[in-house]
Amino acid sequence: MDNLSRLAIHTMTTKPWDLPTAVAKFSAAGVPGVGVWRQWLAGRPLAESRAMLADNGLHAVSLVRGGFFPGLNAAERTAALDDTRRALDEAAAVGAPQVVLVCGARPELSLPENRRQITEGVAACLDHARQTGVKLALEPLHPMYADCRSAINTIGQCNDMIDQLGDTWLGIAADVYHIWWDPQLESEIARAGRRIIGFHVCDWMTPTADFLNDRGLMGEGCIDIPGIRGLVEKAGFDGPIEVEIFSTRHWARDQDQFLADIITAYKTKV
Ligand code: ZN
Repeated sequence: MDNLSRLAIHTMTTKPWDLPTAVAKFSAAGVPGVGVWRQWLAGRPLAESRAMLADNGLHAVSLVRGGFFPGLNAAERTAALDDTRRALDEAAAVGAPQVVLVCGARPELSLPENRRQITEGVAACLDHARQTGVKLALEPLHPMYADCRSAINTIGQCNDMIDQLGDTWLGIAADVYHIWWDPQLESEIARAGRRIIGFHVCDWMTPTADFLNDRGLMGEGCIDIPGIRGLVEKAGFDGPIEVEIFSTRHWARDQDQFLADIITAYKTKV
């Protein structure tokens, strides 16, 4: 019998389901972990969402997301810090141990300036992370997003930032979709060691029809998911394996069947 104890699914993966539906379906399927996107918390008190998870035997493994630090002026940068601190508060309220950071980028700014503002923004949120007891997880994004979603694109950049800022309240979320192409992946994951606090899985479709919403189910594409899992586990990671699939194609399917397929793929392709 395959063990699902480390399986978590992001609410975005089954986007057509609201939180009560997702929680009931995940619970019935034996999925213990949920990666909670903030939109799924809207419209009800945070304590109610936390109770809904607990009553179904589930737990939040991450809250997505904070970040988007670079801005064209001080007001924009301050708004991003406030929003990330609010994300930390929300994570604490629902019992999620980490907030995933999509670090941001503005095409109007140079890459070095984007990266400087990101490091400054992360540093400015560490104290609030300590106060809430929630870690910040840097998620490097595929470089196709370096213009407007994140100028942090490799595990190596995350390691450099953590060398600078410390690892007490800062870690790395390694998402196979974003890092599979990196020739330095093996050495930088080894260098990261226990800084890796999140592991996200999906697959890379060829051709990729949409830069955002055409991720594959594990096994549909070309990523060596078991190989990368082996690297993060060799580095010491033993936390949840979070299924994060943005896919217009899969969202259009019967979500019960999709959930069954996710569990099969988790057992056989991860
Ligand atoms: Zn991810």
